[in-house]
Amino acid sequence: MINWKEHPSFDGHEDVVAVGDEALGFAGFVAIHSTALGPSGGGCRIWSYANVDEALTDALRLSRGMTYKNAMAELPMGGGKTVLYKMGADRNACFEKFGAQVQALGGRYVAAEDVGATVADMRAIARRTSYVAGIPKDGGQAGGDPSPWTALGVHLSIKALLGGSVQGRTIAVQGTGAVGFGLCKLLVEEGAKLIVADVNAKNLDRAKALGAEVASVERIHAAAADVFSPCALGAGLNAQTIPELGAPIICGAANNQLATEDDGARLVARGVTYAPDYVVNAGGIISVSAEYIGESEAAVDARVRAIAPRLMRVLETARAEALTPHQAADRIVKARLAAARKT
Ligand code: NAD
Repeated sequence: MINWKEHPSFDGHEDVVAVGDEALGFAGFVAIHSTALGPSGGGCRIWSYANVDEALTDALRLSRGMTYKNAMAELPMGGGKTVLYKMGADRNACFEKFGAQVQALGGRYVAAEDVGATVADMRAIARRTSYVAGIPKDGGQAGGDPSPWTALGVHLSIKALLGGSVQGRTIAVQGTGAVGFGLCKLLVEEGAKLIVADVNAKNLDRAKALGAEVASVERIHAAAADVFSPCALGAGLNAQTIPELGAPIICGAANNQLATEDDGARLVARGVTYAPDYVVNAGGIISVSAEYIGESEAAVDARVRAIAPRLMRVLETARAEALTPHQAADRIVKARLAAARKT
């Protein structure tokens, strides 16, 4: 029995379900934060944690973040997330079993890729449930790996923050994984200079091959750049890193970039413009949602292109009303959720 309602990261979540199979050797949680706007959508993260409580904390925080992201992007989806903290040797069998467990949730949760998960994993889930997305489709239908769409949304947001062009500007990218590397390619194509860091040598090398300069994992946030783009894991903006930031603008794909609520105010005090993570990294879930409800790729493209103008409106509201950017974003979402609960 998981005592998630007493957990410090509990925020009115609707449900948390333990998933896994002892014989297959996998274990994790599906956290359903809200279904007020539709089935809870959010990726499966496969990661190793120091202990089970850390995994639960991540599931609670990330699922709440998905509610906010989906509502902000005006999607017909609530927020949920899977965290698998243990993966068995027979990966296909694990994901098939997990698919059956998602099926048993009756459509309250729709799975897709996140850190550590692949299209092949989603195909395995799909053998046991239809409550899954992130699988390529034919004929102009939305579907497949969501990360290129996330990269595009972040790229267009960086461009808007820099006044319309990245030509000759320096972007420090933390994490050159699926999204980070996709972003690096888009930036280089438009004449930006890159500084990158990654703990994974293979992922780092492919960014180096684009001509990127390399910084250490410990110091990438301090690299002198026009924009710092966190595209690894969360909580990278904190009391220790904020005073050391080397760029006046933060805009990246990682979820939950601010370690605490206070870090939003710390950024404002340092004069750093922070693009709220869930406003700019919605491209992937926009694709997932479109795939799930049967929209076209053209519809995904239009929705992803709406991200940057939406970001600029959020920043304008924050400035006009003396809020931090993420407070301004949260306020918009809370109003949307309250309206949905009333209807
Ligand atoms: P990924 O696993 O493909 O890439 C993450 C990269 O970060 C890896 O290369 C990893 O080695 C690196 N990394 C891990 N710790 C690091 C550290 N301390 N310093 C530098 N690099 C480090 O994952 P992804 O799909 O590219 O997602 C990246 C981030 O964006 C995650 O926070 C994810 O939740 C978020 N996100 C992803 C999507 C998507 O569509 N994939 C959508 C929204 C948000």
